[in-house]
Amino acid sequence: MSLTETAAAGVTTPDAPVIPHWIDGAERPSTSGRTAPVYNPATGRVAAHVALADQAEIDEAIASAQRGFEVWSGWSIAKRQTVLFAFRELLNARKGELAEIITAEHGKVVSDAMGEILRGQEVVELATGFPHLLKGAYTENASTGVDVYSLRQPLGVVGVISPFNFPAMVPMWFFPIAIAAGNAVVVKPSEKDPSASLWLARLWAEAGLPEGVFTVLQGDKLAVDGLLTSPTVQSISFVGSTPIAQYIYETASKHGKRVQALGGAKNHMLVLPDADLDLVADQAVNAGYGAAGERCMAISVVLAVEPVADDLIAKIRERIGRLRIGNGAGGPAGEPDMGPLITDVHRDKVSGYVDIAEADGATVVVDGRGLGVDGHEDGFWFGPTLLDRVPTTSRAYTEEIFGPVLSVVRVESFQEGMDLINSGAFGNGTAIFTNDGGAARRFQTEVQVGMIGINVPIPVPVAYHSFGGWKSSLFGDAKAYGVHGFDFFTREKAITSRWLDPATHGGINLGFPQN
Ligand code: NAD
Repeated sequence: MSLTETAAAGVTTPDAPVIPHWIDGAERPSTSGRTAPVYNPATGRVAAHVALADQAEIDEAIASAQRGFEVWSGWSIAKRQTVLFAFRELLNARKGELAEIITAEHGKVVSDAMGEILRGQEVVELATGFPHLLKGAYTENASTGVDVYSLRQPLGVVGVISPFNFPAMVPMWFFPIAIAAGNAVVVKPSEKDPSASLWLARLWAEAGLPEGVFTVLQGDKLAVDGLLTSPTVQSISFVGSTPIAQYIYETASKHGKRVQALGGAKNHMLVLPDADLDLVADQAVNAGYGAAGERCMAISVVLAVEPVADDLIAKIRERIGRLRIGNGAGGPAGEPDMGPLITDVHRDKVSGYVDIAEADGATVVVDGRGLGVDGHEDGFWFGPTLLDRVPTTSRAYTEEIFGPVLSVVRVESFQEGMDLINSGAFGNGTAIFTNDGGAARRFQTEVQVGMIGINVPIPVPVAYHSFGGWKSSLFGDAKAYGVHGFDFFTREKAITSRWLDPATHGGINLGFPQN
């Protein structure tokens, strides 16, 4: 696609730059002749174009990473740790720059962009302590005169494919640990907000990481398929929508790779009648409309155990009335609460789900369709939307909407609510709001979901635990970061060793070795 053609998709800023790859420790302009537009969602303008790699660029990126791996994996643990600490210090000092980049391409408000960086930085901080997690085990005298021990070694070149909604945090779920463990990483960012990864690449270079250890391959399906099928790439860490996660899992597995593929979500908040409804309303609004609902751990369904639904809806509605929607970069009136959606196509899809819910009999309590923001008439706006009595047969209930739409489903009991959660296709996150410890404990035992909040609406585990859902929210058996992360990015070797001496070696014996 030429620049002139892509420009037709939106209002173009003259001379919009082309965002390059990062290969061999430097920016690498693309020669593929293919690009995609990158919008500022608050203005609706095409702010840049991103390179879309061709096969030659994919091969170059992977070959450079292999060379980087051969250098980096030979560095001592102490030297590797110095680079990790330097990266952490630079990130901490300059994260404001990154937050602005995220807001300009994603649209989320700057303080929320800062929040995602801090959650990623947690993983960097975990990774600085990597020597402890890479230690093997040693058994002395497992058999007479025989010792057995294990080593953890890096995999080699590893691929990270990320979604648009967390352009900094999601890559940081993986690459700090992968790099600490001695691997070389090729990141394929979302083509919708590709600049955060490039900024992180520059930071790694400043921190002293050898060239080729952190590579950014800009691109679309061609780049993804290049990583999935390359014999050099040893593992794939993917985060995105469920259909693509399944495709990634199947394709990469077929090509002999280790895969972790995190998919979509439909997170429910179960509200029991004894809960504090003011607390619940605050949390439902925060978790439903923060980042315009474009979070995989956003709450999208409120299961209200009657008789609380009417009161709860009134409280949520009142809070929605106070939300300010605008350019996430802020302005004379300060920072708004919520920014735009990522593209006009996605905005129309979200709007379509509200149409479906309405046609299926739901009540539209607050309608965000058609919202405009003064001074930003071309932005991709969609207002906070509240639906009541959403039928559980409606596609608006069964499918992921990924926008600022909260659906209330009224249930008669705790059991009815939990059965609904367990019957869904997704199992990423869920939350229960109650003051009844017994009910909460039963919920955590019986609910079929990977991450659970008890009076916590977005239960994203801290870095030293691991992140991952169940069912169609995670393909593969490895979660992101924490101990799972170190297991994923290393291979174990078990060594059995004996130092022979004439007194104990026992001569020729063709039997299976015993004690
Ligand atoms: P997406 O699946 O469209 O894209 C994710 C990545 O896959 C991008 O890098 C994209 O370029 C690539 N891709 C897209 N189509 C492809 C294809 N046909 N073949 C190969 N590669 C392809 O997801 P998105 O819209 O960028 O992100 C939103 C989705 O991500 C939501 O479903 C959200 O729930 C999910 N998500 C999940 C988690 C989690 O932890 N489970 C976290 C964040 C986002």
